[in-house]
Amino acid sequence: MNAPVTDLATTQQYMLAEEPYYRAVDAETDVYEAAYAARMPVMLKGPTGCGKTRFVEYMAWKLGKPLITVACNEDMTASDLVGRFLLDADGTRWQDGPLTIAARIGAICYLDEVVEARQDTMVVIHALTDHRRVLPLEKRGEQVTAHPDFQMVISYNPGYQSLMKDLKQSTKQRFGAMVFDYPPADVEAEIVAHESGVEAEVARKLVQVAQRSRNLKGHGLDEGMSTRLLVHAGQLITRGIPASDACRMTLVRPLTDDPDMLDTLDSAIDTVF
Ligand code: ADP
Repeated sequence: MNAPVTDLATTQQYMLAEEPYYRAVDAETDVYEAAYAARMPVMLKGPTGCGKTRFVEYMAWKLGKPLITVACNEDMTASDLVGRFLLDADGTRWQDGPLTIAARIGAICYLDEVVEARQDTMVVIHALTDHRRVLPLEKRGEQVTAHPDFQMVISYNPGYQSLMKDLKQSTKQRFGAMVFDYPPADVEAEIVAHESGVEAEVARKLVQVAQRSRNLKGHGLDEGMSTRLLVHAGQLITRGIPASDACRMTLVRPLTDDPDMLDTLDSAIDTVF
């Protein structure tokens, strides 16, 4: 059985090379720093594309800690997180999963869209996210004690949850929750302009279109247009695509197939631009 690799090169691989651009909206960086100082597990709640991933990347950079991100899905098993034995030419070899690597090297482990994972898969994080801070590797007969710098962060979109797909209370009640939403209009326009390179005036108009769509959430739309989509629209506009075409492609068509809703959103674009 090979010893797990936890050398400096592994840690280095997960360090952010450059400062990610993050425009703080409130006191979220201070709150997160206090939670990290207490090594409190943190849940980032909010709609898709509103800046949760960018925030955790920025915080990992600011704190100088490695970041290991896992996109959760319903086929994910506990072994995908923890690790498994692999067969190779020399016999069996244990390979740490991302959660185990994070616990060993003292990374921030970010499980993105955690409700996508099955509830029984999430149980593997329980002993890591309470006072024990250990990860039992049952198949290997080893118990990993988390490095003092290790912290668990999950993202959670409350809009998607159903009775079948939600976290158990026993999982939820291990986390402090930070609530994210689309930023105020002027801040969002600043972000869109920075990320895509569009003029401030165009960025403001993109935000206006998004706000109209957000008012339709629950009235024919599951979600409004996210900041991420506004950045996409801006990226096409800066490459010479007329605003109305760019908005149709990036803001409207990904959201809905409903003919009435398409008309409503298309005319919102024509009104604003
Ligand atoms: P989430 O993780 O909430 O789905 P992301 O963090 O991936 O969303 O955000 C989507 C995009 O929106 C980012 O890539 C970034 O361009 C932009 N963004 C949103 N909020 C911010 C912010 N506060 N500062 C900087 N960029 C942001």
